[in-house]
Amino acid sequence: MTLDTLRALAAEDRLADFGVFHSTEDDAPGPGTIVLLGPDEPGFWAHVTNAPEFADTRPDPLDRWSRRVISALADRLGGTALFPFGTPLHPFMTWALRSGRAWASPVQLLVHDRAGLMVSYRGAIHLGYRADLPSTTSDSPCRDCRSQPCLTACPVTALTSGGYDIAACHAWLDTGPACMSQGCEVRRACPVSRGYGRTDAQSAFHMERFHP
Ligand code: SF4
Ligand code: SF4
Repeated sequence: MTLDTLRALAAEDRLADFGVFHSTEDDAPGPGTIVLLGPDEPGFWAHVTNAPEFADTRPDPLDRWSRRVISALADRLGGTALFPFGTPLHPFMTWALRSGRAWASPVQLLVHDRAGLMVSYRGAIHLGYRADLPSTTSDSPCRDCRSQPCLTACPVTALTSGGYDIAACHAWLDTGPACMSQGCEVRRACPVSRGYGRTDAQSAFHMERFHP
């Protein structure tokens, strides 16, 4: 099995390779290869919201969809599915940095080479062998981002280089701003995010869970 095969199978469910790295004995899944999976945009949201998990009234349809789809994919590949939610808790932030495709941004959120500040990981697959890694020679997009709009995008300066004032953020969200229907303005301000293709409907789904 090659990473190309994994990518092709993942793409059938609108998931994309968001980074790959070699794990060691010190990592909970053990030595081998970890492939991080994220939404393959544009088109991810239209795909998942047609799934059965979104047709019932049980909570967490996106997490349930991720668990079902990525577990099935891992089974087909002889690997193990890992998730950034539920238990056990896996260090996806650390794994993202180790993949060489995500970095700390000036506002301290992760920024990804494809998803920008809209990065999210739906899960990962651990393979019990060391696959050939793709070259990850890219630098953080922040290096060439002269205007750095993320630093000034929050209307109440709740998210800046100085950190995240979660109380100020929630107080603003209580007023029903565009953040609720389109997503965090800091995340949307990033040019990499803007080119990614995440829909407002998906951002609104996440915001509703963050600020019910
Ligand atoms: S807006 Fe620019 S500086 Fe901020 S996260 Fe995006 S690329 Fe980096
Ligand atoms: S969601 Fe809105 S208020 Fe909260 S940090 Fe983002 S831009 Fe600021």
